[in-house]
Amino acid sequence: MPKNAECVKVMVRCRPFNGRETSLGCKSSVEIDSNTNSVQLYKPNSKEVPKRFTYDSVYDGDSKQSDIYNETAFPLVESVLEGYNGTIFAYGQTGCGKTHTMLGVQDDEELKGIIPRAYVQIFGCIDEAKEGVKYLVRCSYLEIYNESILDLLSDKKSKLDVKEDPDKGIFVQGLTGVIVKSTSEVNACMLRGNGRRKTGETAMNKDSSRSHSIFTIYIEQMEEADGDQKIKAGKLHLVDLAGSERQSKTHATGDRLKEAQKINLSLSALGNVISALVDGKAKHIPYRDSKLTRLLQDSLGGNTKTVMIAALSPADDNYDETLSTLRYASRAK
Ligand code: ADP
Ligand code: MG
Repeated sequence: MPKNAECVKVMVRCRPFNGRETSLGCKSSVEIDSNTNSVQLYKPNSKEVPKRFTYDSVYDGDSKQSDIYNETAFPLVESVLEGYNGTIFAYGQTGCGKTHTMLGVQDDEELKGIIPRAYVQIFGCIDEAKEGVKYLVRCSYLEIYNESILDLLSDKKSKLDVKEDPDKGIFVQGLTGVIVKSTSEVNACMLRGNGRRKTGETAMNKDSSRSHSIFTIYIEQMEEADGDQKIKAGKLHLVDLAGSERQSKTHATGDRLKEAQKINLSLSALGNVISALVDGKAKHIPYRDSKLTRLLQDSLGGNTKTVMIAALSPADDNYDETLSTLRYASRAK
């Protein structure tokens, strides 16, 4: 079995300047070097030596969705099709490209993100399956808001709990699982869930940058051979994390402050779990410290693959947040 350090891959993606940054005349503080897989961060108006971080791979503003998919997600989805669990996360400050990387632009071949590309790979593999091999594919979609789990594929508004079962592993009790037979069926589920996320926003006066969303694809493979039936089951979690920006800047009070503390709690719990896994010597992996890590317990570390994508803005006015994202990602190394 591969070592944990090899099972967790960390990549950094810096998006192009946006209109606001260009019109403010922002300079670039980020230099991406894909030969050495490193990022240099320059402090604005300072002669300080730039800080340098190295990752498994790095991508600049010219990177294509297809490159990111083929180099980082494809091998992971392949192992899920072989019966292993896997998780892909997008981490970073709001507006830096998490959703662009995970979902991208709907119905645009070039700009579609990891989630729609994963369907194509999964159903492509199923279509070519050899005789006697059958697949069952299901999907679910949830969000974690204020440490509560909400089903995005159901009208019920109840909060759900994470449970553990000797056969099923970790699961969310009562979560809707929809059987899907094609890329268009799975995409329809995803869009339905996105629709619910949006309604929730206005009803609860929050935006999606304050909740973590997890779209999960479960793949069961049944093979009949010599009268025997072999079953392999893997699941793929595709996670768009809440914005990592420090909440102190927003002067939040009351509910907003409570919400901010919960976001910080689960992001730091995730960081702690991943760094304990990568370290390899830690005796205790603190999965139980947040809903997010508890839910992903059997899909992080061990016999699974994990990809963390840290999304950055190039602009110097985001220096502090960019530094904190680079540090978070390098702890996972
Ligand atoms: P986040 O989900 O991290 O808050 P988004 O993915 O919504 O950020 O990105 C914010 C804006 O920047 C969107 O309009 C998105 O289309 C654009 N964007 C993000 N990353 C890229 C990229 N790599 N190339 C082009 N546009 C991008
Ligand atoms: Mg987003």
